[in-house]
Order: sequence, then structure tokens, then C-alpha cells
Amino acid sequence: MSLASRYAPSPSGPLHLGNLRSALFAWLQARWSGAIFILRMDDLDALRTIPGMAEQALEDLNWLGIDWDRGPNTDQGVVSVKDTCGPYTQSDCDDHYQQVFDQLRQTGHLYKCICSRKEWQAVVSAPHGEASLYPGTCRNPSIAKQQRIDSGKQFSWRFRVDDRVIRFVDEILGETKQNLAVDVGDFIVRRADGLFAYHLATVVDDARMKITDVLRGADLLDSTSRQLALIQVLNYQIPKYWHVPLITDAKGKRLAKRDGSDSLMQLRKQGRSRAEILKLMFDGLSGTDNTNYESAQTILDSWSLDELVTSLRCYSRV
Ligand code: GLU
Repeated sequence: MSLASRYAPSPSGPLHLGNLRSALFAWLQARWSGAIFILRMDDLDALRTIPGMAEQALEDLNWLGIDWDRGPNTDQGVVSVKDTCGPYTQSDCDDHYQQVFDQLRQTGHLYKCICSRKEWQAVVSAPHGEASLYPGTCRNPSIAKQQRIDSGKQFSWRFRVDDRVIRFVDEILGETKQNLAVDVGDFIVRRADGLFAYHLATVVDDARMKITDVLRGADLLDSTSRQLALIQVLNYQIPKYWHVPLITDAKGKRLAKRDGSDSLMQLRKQGRSRAEILKLMFDGLSGTDNTNYESAQTILDSWSLDELVTSLRCYSRV
């Protein structure tokens, strides 16, 4: 079976060190295992997309020495290429999402929901701040609510989860499990503004692109059981998951795109060299003594997949 792996940035801000670390490790994993490496632009949410960030992301990756076998055509900005598994920009994939959405709807996996987050969080009293589990109000609505749903113009679509445990063995973090009903709840696959949601788009694209290995930041670990629930009902091939522990700043706070302080653009403006920036991505990892940080390629030559995984496993246990 041919292997395929991907990196899928969202152009909602400049890539920071944490994003680039996921990109680098995904590229290394692909190159070490002989997988096709795909770059996908997760630009589904036009409201969050910042003009110029998709181009900047590709330029950042190029600068680090990360290349890809398939991805958006960059001759005239980031535009789609249609080939065996394109387009590689989610904003061009609505037809694919619509098809799968219709299939899920026809097979009874979805229901309309008119609750706003504010509304249902007020109903559920969470002992520790915000409730995050949708209580299923629109799943079995009262007669009055059903009338509101039927006459409503604005509604989202939720995926009906079963009361069952999803288990998988993450290649880095090991055995992981979540009960869909208890830990996850019915989740949105299409938003009230008509946009397809991240989980649906990711599952459809990963299947379309025949992705066998998903390597991404551990902040997305929680998403995996939702995606596996969709994969199972759609009968798609289950990929291997590699969730990389997040880099934190000196105060132990995880990096985010929002403040832009650790973006590659900023680091380059501060005069940091490529080797210095790549070295930062290995901060806290063991086994780095003989690493040549000149470029992504020299790292590829000085480590092996086993060594990196062992080091990441130790890091995640600290
Ligand atoms: N586009 C997502 C992000 O930048 C990543 C999606 C994924 O890897 O599944 O956070």
C-alpha cells in the first residue's frame, strides 16, 4: 500500500514555531517512511482567513527546506490544482463535503440544531466554568422546540454520536480513548452560516487524498475521536495518528497564532538564522547532540524516525 501523509495549515495567521514544528515532523515522518507528502490549505473558513497568509505559509515552509509532492499551485498565488487527489485548498472542495453531508443526512446520522452555544451553556451548569458538551436539546426536542426547528431559517447540523468508546493507539501518545456520548457529545458538521465544519472537511479530505498517516499537534488529539466516529460510519480507511506534544513558552503557556510573537516572520526579523529556528523546535527533546540543524534536509540525515518518536514519547511523559 502506498503511504501518504500531510500538513494542513489554516491561513488564519502567520505560522508560529509550534505550527512549523508539526510541519517539520510531518515532513520528516513522510520522508523517512517513503510516504507522499501532501500540503493542504485548510482555508474553509473565509472569515478567519487572512489575505496573504496562505502564500506566507508556503514561503515559510520553503525557507525551512520543507517541500511537498502534491499541493496548491503557487504560480499565481495559492490556487487549486486538480489532479488525482486535488483540489488542495479546502475552499474549493464544497462539492465533496456536500456529497458526504447528504449521505450522512440520508442515513439518519444528522439532525438540525437551533441552539446557540450561549443558550445551551446557560442550561447546563458546569462545575468548572464553561460547559463544552452539547446536552442534545435538539436531538429529542419538545413539541414546541420541534416547531421552532421546522420554522427556523438558521440552524446548524449535528452528528448524532452513540454511547460507545472510541479507542486508538497514537504512535506517540499511546492508547487513547473517549466515550462519544460522555466526553464528546453530538458535534456540528455544518454551521448555521452554511459552512462545513472542520471535522467533516478533514475526514473527507484525508479520505480523498488517501492519507495513511496524520501527524499534527497534540492540541488536536481531542478531535480524533470525532473524526474516527465519522470515518467509521463512512467506512473509510483509518489512518495512523501521530500527535506531537506542544511546545510551550518559558512560562509553560502553549504558543498560539493570535499574538504572532513566535511567527517565523518575527523570528526572521529578529535576525535568527534557519539553524537557530530549527534548533528551537527540538527544545526539550533528548538525543539531539549530533543534530545538524542547517536545514530540514540535514535534520532528516541526522535523525531516524525511531529516534524522534522515542524522544517525543519521553518528552510527553515529562
Ligand atoms: N488546519 C488545522 C490547523 O491548522 C489542522 C488540521 C489537521 O491537521 O487535522 O490547526
